[in-house]
Amino acid sequence: FWIVFEGGDGVGKSTQIDALLAWLRAGGAGSAEVVTTREPGGTPLGVELRQAVMHGDHVAPRAEALLYAADRAHHIATLVRPALDRGAIVVQDRYLDSSIVYQGGARGLGDMVEQISLWATEGAVPDLTVVLDMEPRADRLERELDRVERETSEHAARMREGFLVLAARAPERYAVVDAARPVADVAADVRVAVAAAMAK
Ligand code: C5P
Repeated sequence: FWIVFEGGDGVGKSTQIDALLAWLRAGGAGSAEVVTTREPGGTPLGVELRQAVMHGDHVAPRAEALLYAADRAHHIATLVRPALDRGAIVVQDRYLDSSIVYQGGARGLGDMVEQISLWATEGAVPDLTVVLDMEPRADRLERELDRVERETSEHAARMREGFLVLAARAPERYAVVDAARPVADVAADVRVAVAAAMAK
């Protein structure tokens, strides 16, 4: 069973992944092996690609999209698919939707990003994608922001909307969880969503 977490920056993804892992490893959903991984950077090659794409000098948008796709192709083929084939539960930090939202939406590359990624992974689709949804945190009032801050805040709002649109496209494979609540409440909702999806 394959679970992916998606959401904007600062929504508490790592914390919620850790909470779900603790529950799964305590037998919350049975005794299957539990594997955790991330994109980009879930494999040794992926770590190098993550380094290149995130810490390199400016990477051209199409090169960036292809580096994420290369990371994904290798990650799915060598780690995720083998784990799923041996019956493990895979809990993954980011996947295709992050690329659609970040490279596709923000960088204006549109549908190609999704097509490249689906080619790269031979069409691998998670059983459940948990979208941690939260209004981007505004430390100050909109009118107090300078230009760069305003652009950052608008960008975050667009990214949030992007994840929600993807979830609405296939609601049977998604759980949108309100992440603007205490950690334990969010974690409880995530567990309910995972248990329900696994029981299907
Ligand atoms: O892995 P992590 O959550 O630390 O990644 C954070 C950032 O990486 C995102 O905010 C986004 O800018 C970038 N990213 C991306 N495309 C992906 C995955 C991550 O642009 N497919």
